[in-house]
Amino acid sequence: MRIVRSPDPGPFNHYRDYKPHLQPLFRCRCAYCLSHEDQIGRFDEMQVDHFRPKGRREFAHLEREWANLYYCCGRCNRHKSDHWPTDQETQRGLRFVDPCLEDPDEHFRLCRPPQHDDLCYVMPLTTPAQYTIAKVRLNRNQLVQIRRSLAVEEREDREQLRELSRAIEELGADTVDRGLSAHTAEIMRLLETQHQRCLARLERIRSLRPFPLAEQP
Ligand SMILES: [Zn+2]
Repeated sequence: MRIVRSPDPGPFNHYRDYKPHLQPLFRCRCAYCLSHEDQIGRFDEMQVDHFRPKGRREFAHLEREWANLYYCCGRCNRHKSDHWPTDQETQRGLRFVDPCLEDPDEHFRLCRPPQHDDLCYVMPLTTPAQYTIAKVRLNRNQLVQIRRSLAVEEREDREQLRELSRAIEELGADTVDRGLSAHTAEIMRLLETQHQRCLARLERIRSLRPFPLAEQP
C-alpha cells in the first residue's frame, strides 16, 4: 500500500519530534522492510529516516523536511545509511523503492529460499527493488527469521482450520439422522468458537506479512 502523506504537522526544532506523527502515517511499519513495530521492538526502537540522506551535502537542507522523513526500523536505517544512487546508477534504473510514491507490492514478492519450504525471502520484481534489497539488506537473517515464524504459524493454523472444518462437517452429518442432543450442540458450539479464533489468527498473520506471496503456501 502506498503511503499518502498528511499535511506537515510541524515545524519542529528537531527532526525526531516528527516521529509520533510518522508512526500512524506509516501504520506502525518500517518504510522499507514493512515489519510492524510490534515485531521489532515497538515504538522506542523505531527511528526517523531521511529518504534523501541528510548526511549527503546535496540533501542537508532536507533534515527537517516533512516529505523527506520516513518511519523506519533501526536496522534498516543503519543499512540504508547515506546510500543514494549515483547518476550512472539512476540511468540504469537503480534507486530506492519509495513507499510514498509507489506501492511496494508492485516491486517485491516473498519466495522460498534455496533448501527451505517457507516463503520468507524477498524477491525483486523490478530494478529499484534489486537496489533496495541490496542496500537495506532486506534478506538479512533477522527479517528472514521473522517471516519464517509467520509462515510456520500460518501453516499450523491452516492445518488446524482444516481439521476443525472436517470435525464440524462430520458432527453436522451425524446429527442429521439422530437429532442434535444438548451435549452435541455444546460440542458444536465449542468447535465453531475455535474455528472463529483460528480464522482471526490467520487474518492477523496475513496482515503482518510484508509483501505478497510469489506462490501459494
Ligand atoms: Zn525495517
